[in-house]
Amino acid sequence: MSDLIYLDHAATTAVHPDVLKEMLPYFTDRFGNPSSVYGFAANNKNKLTEARETIAGALGAKPEEIYFTAGGSESDNWALKCTAEAYGVHGGHIITTKIEHHAILHTCKYLQNRGYDVTYLDVDENGLVDLNTLEAAVRPDTFLISIMFANNEIGTIEPIKEIGEIAHRYGILFHTDAVQAFGQIPIHVDEMNIDMLSASGHKFNGPKGIGFLYIKKGLKLKSFIHGGQQERGRRAGTENVPGIVGIAKACEIAMAEMEERMKKETELRDYLIERILKEIPYTRLNGHSKKRLPNNVNISFQFVEGESILIMLDMAGICASSGSACTSGSVDPSHVLLAIGLPHEIAHGSLRLTIGYENTKEEMDTVVDNLKRIITNLRNMSPLYEDYVKKNHIQ
Ligand SMILES: *Cc1c(COP(=O)(O)O)cnc(C)c1O
Repeated sequence: MSDLIYLDHAATTAVHPDVLKEMLPYFTDRFGNPSSVYGFAANNKNKLTEARETIAGALGAKPEEIYFTAGGSESDNWALKCTAEAYGVHGGHIITTKIEHHAILHTCKYLQNRGYDVTYLDVDENGLVDLNTLEAAVRPDTFLISIMFANNEIGTIEPIKEIGEIAHRYGILFHTDAVQAFGQIPIHVDEMNIDMLSASGHKFNGPKGIGFLYIKKGLKLKSFIHGGQQERGRRAGTENVPGIVGIAKACEIAMAEMEERMKKETELRDYLIERILKEIPYTRLNGHSKKRLPNNVNISFQFVEGESILIMLDMAGICASSGSACTSGSVDPSHVLLAIGLPHEIAHGSLRLTIGYENTKEEMDTVVDNLKRIITNLRNMSPLYEDYVKKNHIQ
């Protein structure tokens, strides 16, 4: 790992060493089932209570509003399916956007097949939802608005508080997929009018396979997994104690270091963006320049394929992504890049670099140096580029 430059933190992150240390005893000495009565296991129950308090504290929520799940996808499924079941008994209407993660988009398709109507809002060229368009989409039978906090591909941060205000003005519930935002930027569920929020441990230096859904007190969402009384009877199954201990520790670290980390990542991000745009011609930044996650860089390189850039970067020991990890391997360009209006050929030449706390400025320099070489080489092999150069009498 030492020689590797890892710039794919939106796909997943390494477990923080302190998180691992906190988790390890819960695999061995402290393996007890929190539901058991003897003291040895009951200590684990206390640990779960503490974890819930830590997560709730980070959101301005109450501990009993935090439900542990197996990750972001499960939280998204739960929020959408159970809201539909409880609040759309006779069908009804959901509003979301065209740039959501597939955990939302595919769940919406599933609900459409079961008779619900879904509006997929357009976004502007920076990936922002327009509040007037949102309000105009509201119908008498709209029961849910689900809009992501920050986009996983282009890093655009949506006007969450204002979206929640519109939802509540019409008596509609508001869910946000905050998997990319939680632990990275400040979130307060009450101040931001959020009723449900999804997050996932492995996106902020916690373990994989653990996440949570915040459900505002008073919502009548039913059980997502039926069985025992775990998670207040709404999500059955023996708790993933090491995972819960781990996500809580990751949350604690993320909150303690957030300000410092945001500052550092923003600096590296802007340095990387500036150097690439300045030193490599025919490039553009995707996503909003200011309303943007501190760690996200997404650039389109004209006349080349994102997949080719990835392979060449990989040979140089640099991990990056084109589009989202879930769509790599498929030939369709990213639905997010198409939604912000990029033509197919430009969307195909896009690269996502996402920064983490361990990255350095020297690594940014190495990446830019490699990109300059790689893009030049790829363009020299590109018939599109050759045509363009000939047509415009360049060189
Ligand atoms: C990663 C991600 C998810 C899925 O989370 P998992 O924990 O991997 O299931 C959902 N939404 C967004 C925006 C993500 O980035």
